[in-house]
Amino acid sequence: GRPSIYPSFLAEGIEYFDFSKIKGREAGRARSDYLDRLGSRINRWLKRYPSGLDPETIEKRKQNRKRILDFFGASLEDWQDYKWHYKHIFRGKDALEKLEKLIMLTEEEKKAIKMATEYRIPFGITPYYLHLMDYEPHRKYDAAVRAQVIPPIHYVENMAKHRQDREYAMDFMGEHDTSPIDLVTRRYPKVAIIKPYDSCPQICVYCQRNWEITGPLEPGAMPSREVLEAALDWYAEHPQIMDVLITGGEPLVLSDQMLERILERFAEMEHITSIRIASRIVVTLPFRVTDETAEMLGSFYEEGRRFIYYVTHVESAYEITPELVEAVKKLRKQGIYVYNQQVFTQWNSRRFETVALRIALKKAGIDPYYCFYPKGKWEHKDYIVPVARIIQERKEEARLLPGIYRTEEPVFNVPRLGKNHLRSWQDHELIMIRPDGRRVYLWHPWEKNIALVNPYIYTDIVSIKMYLDNLKKRGENPEDYQSIWYYY
Ligand code: SF4
Repeated sequence: GRPSIYPSFLAEGIEYFDFSKIKGREAGRARSDYLDRLGSRINRWLKRYPSGLDPETIEKRKQNRKRILDFFGASLEDWQDYKWHYKHIFRGKDALEKLEKLIMLTEEEKKAIKMATEYRIPFGITPYYLHLMDYEPHRKYDAAVRAQVIPPIHYVENMAKHRQDREYAMDFMGEHDTSPIDLVTRRYPKVAIIKPYDSCPQICVYCQRNWEITGPLEPGAMPSREVLEAALDWYAEHPQIMDVLITGGEPLVLSDQMLERILERFAEMEHITSIRIASRIVVTLPFRVTDETAEMLGSFYEEGRRFIYYVTHVESAYEITPELVEAVKKLRKQGIYVYNQQVFTQWNSRRFETVALRIALKKAGIDPYYCFYPKGKWEHKDYIVPVARIIQERKEEARLLPGIYRTEEPVFNVPRLGKNHLRSWQDHELIMIRPDGRRVYLWHPWEKNIALVNPYIYTDIVSIKMYLDNLKKRGENPEDYQSIWYYY
């Protein structure tokens, strides 16, 4: 091969040694010294991304919490009560006025929040999540946290433009075409999704279901009992399904009684051997995971028969807090496996940022499961990375961690058909580069070679140049990413 074709970034200036010239213990020592130098460089990069478990961050957040509690005239006891947070979600017309009293916002952030609340674009932040944001708006550490819930102007403008046709125009995954009955989505032979609650305590800007989720904890988000029972009956009539994903929205907003009822129905079905609960509550409002809830969920775990998985969505090490760790501990104590699905966006894709996340996740007792390429939705332009970056991260950053830390699979979602791996040429090919630098890929869906399905063509929403320019605006050195041009 030609190792010199990849411009060095991490090992630049570190002298490599030649195994053909030195042997035995001498070679072993030289290699170990070299790896030490590489390891120190990695540590230097990781220092840029503090986690919510670092003592300085914990201290900072105590002050943030106090500011919020003082503002509402509330107590520490209120803070630990998830229902108190539900009542004080920042949403609607007076959200901006309240937020401005609690954190500093840039002019652009203010404008976007104002527009979002005026045009009734899904927007909401829990007091708990707000306390993860730094007071100053420089986004040095909390960029991924702010970007998660504070929309950019481009997004609100597009959402406003599509107010009438949002339901179809923004359904990238084609869920309208893959739902055999209300509340159920099916893309695979052995798995089906159920969505028993169609809203969340707060809204992620890049939510793939922004075509159906209208706002935080919307009253109409709960289906009628008949609709829910019909969906559950559908599972009973389909012994082909072995794995059910309870998602939404946020299923943990449902009462324990309601969740228990749903789980009881699944437990009656011999063919259901795994139940996954897709929930972001440990990130947005960890106090919702009470001992009773964890115990109830865990009671459906039956060794040798059925497993319960809690699949969450942590985006940055900064979101991993002692409160999250506590909630995860409660679940794990009940025999529930806890996994993470990260969405790889412009806001958590800097060099070694996802490595820092993986380390923080493992410390919290969570295993990385998927790393999603964001859904290719135009309104999410400010979040999407070029395909090349996720592959570069895998090769040049993730690979430097012990295998037990990088257990997730990077995936690209093909409309209607679902997850596509993106590591090899059997999964995708680069077929063209447009004059503006955006690359065009041909995806070979998982179903190809099993059935006659068409490949899917996707054009990078953001070119490598646009991505690097955005990073530069945030203070990154594009040269640190130089080898990205070689990945496709
Ligand atoms: S938690 Fe999931 S369903 Fe809820 S807004 Fe975020 S991405 Fe959408």
